[in-house]
Amino acid sequence: MKVLVIGSGAREHALCRSMSLDPDVTALYCAPGNAGIAEVAELHPVDALDGAAVTALAQELAADLVVVGPEAPLVAGVADAVRAVGIPVFGPSGEAAQLEGSKAFAKDVMAGAGVPTARSYVCTTPAEVDEALDAFGAPYVVKDDGLAAGKGVVVTDDIEKARAHGYACDRVVIEEFLDGPEVSLFAITDGETVVPLQPAQDFKRALDGDEGPNTGGMGAYSPLPWADPKLVQEVLDTVLQPTVDEMRKRGTTFSGLLYAGLAITSRGVRVIEFNARFGDPETQVVLARLRTPLAGVLLAAANGTLADLEPLRWSGDAAVTVVIASHNYPDTPRTGDPITGLDEVAAQDAPNAYVLHAGTKRDGADGPVVSAGGRVLSVTATGADLTQARERAYTAVSRIGLDGSQHRTDIAAKAAAES
Ligand code: AMP
Repeated sequence: MKVLVIGSGAREHALCRSMSLDPDVTALYCAPGNAGIAEVAELHPVDALDGAAVTALAQELAADLVVVGPEAPLVAGVADAVRAVGIPVFGPSGEAAQLEGSKAFAKDVMAGAGVPTARSYVCTTPAEVDEALDAFGAPYVVKDDGLAAGKGVVVTDDIEKARAHGYACDRVVIEEFLDGPEVSLFAITDGETVVPLQPAQDFKRALDGDEGPNTGGMGAYSPLPWADPKLVQEVLDTVLQPTVDEMRKRGTTFSGLLYAGLAITSRGVRVIEFNARFGDPETQVVLARLRTPLAGVLLAAANGTLADLEPLRWSGDAAVTVVIASHNYPDTPRTGDPITGLDEVAAQDAPNAYVLHAGTKRDGADGPVVSAGGRVLSVTATGADLTQARERAYTAVSRIGLDGSQHRTDIAAKAAAES
């Protein structure tokens, strides 16, 4: 199978890494990719948002499967363009990706499907914003309706901050605060059959102890020793399958990766948000534990044959990923800093720990690897339990040099200590 992966983050590196280990994959391509992905896939400098260019590349490479990683190309209809020429593609249509692209649309689908979520109002005027904030009280949850790379949500006790964010958005969802631990659960679907993956938890805040601003994600771990073993089945029955069924009934069949961001509240499981693609950094830990070769699973979703798939096989290992971000992330990340220690990790920590690249590039054809984005690396490790996986991840992190970089030191710490 020849596979083309679209995107350039650590999530796409994780996808490419898994597929590079898949005996069914005979050729692996990525557009545009990054310096780390270049080690496992052939890179093509095509704009991920350009559906016509991605389609032309897929045809030229005679790809058997195209996997679209990030949300922006999905919402822009890149999967539709590829599907239109008859190439199987893993990823929803632009219309179906509105489940992530519009929080108001997602709320409407959830209401139709009877999926438990926070009560909410969609507001378009300052008066409506004020009214909704008063109705729910603190802590206030204010969400920009459109795509904002995980940064459009403000959760605050400060009414002025809540108002300011609400007024600044054209359309804003204001909702009830959900208390309780968060879980990310991914499911692969062909529009009818839904195959859940293993749950993970990510760390959205920039600083230890969940302080600092929201980010795209600073680390993750899986499995969740504290979670109810029946959680996955419950979420499949009450959230994932009803949502996929509702999308199909509406004529916007959703195939690809359905990501449920959940809060485990005292009143039960509630959906915080849906995403229409693999989450980053949770993908790094979930795929580290998946034993079933990945490409065949994604192809079955693309071809509508998931019902025939054997049950997925999982390693009993735990996995932890720690994100190394550049100086001043998430505000004004500095780029162009050289990265050292990558060879040391490969020589001393592999295969239990390895580095997945996000914002990296080579400075010249054979030059050093330098930072090229906010989140730069996802250092991922597996172990017999979370404690060992953490130790291995942080040992590898300590070998990496990147001037001014930052990372959290408490990824999976609480879960490891409690398990
Ligand atoms: P979202 O982009 O919707 O995932 O929101 C980003 C983060 O904001 C989530 O991961 C939560 O930590 C937080 N958040 C979003 N909605 C709520 C809510 N209703 N109650 C509490 N926290 C929330």
